[in-house]
Amino acid sequence: MLLIKCPWCGERPELEFSYGGEAHIARPADPTRLDDEQWAAFLYFRNNPKGLHAERWRHVHGCGRVFNAQRDTVSDAIVATYKAGEKPPGQSGSSP
Ligand SMILES: [Zn+2]
Repeated sequence: MLLIKCPWCGERPELEFSYGGEAHIARPADPTRLDDEQWAAFLYFRNNPKGLHAERWRHVHGCGRVFNAQRDTVSDAIVATYKAGEKPPGQSGSSP
C-alpha cells in the first residue's frame, strides 16, 4: 500500500487521502478582464507532465487539512509533501 506523508500527521495509508488536482494554480486577480478562452484555460486546462508534478491532496480521513505533494507520474512515487502556501522543496518563499 502506498504511504503518503501528511505534513501534520506523518505517514498514513493512501486510503485516508483525496486527490485535489494540480497545485499552485493562482486565481486571476480580476476575472472580469479575461475573455472566455482565458477563463476556460484557467478553469479547465492543467499540466499533464511525464515526471514530477505538483499536486494538492487532502487528508480527508485524518486531520482534514490540504497540502501539496510532488509526485513522479512515471513511478507514482510521492517525492515530497509540504504545507499549502509553501513553495515546493528546493524553492523559497510562498506560493498559492
Ligand atoms: Zn493529516
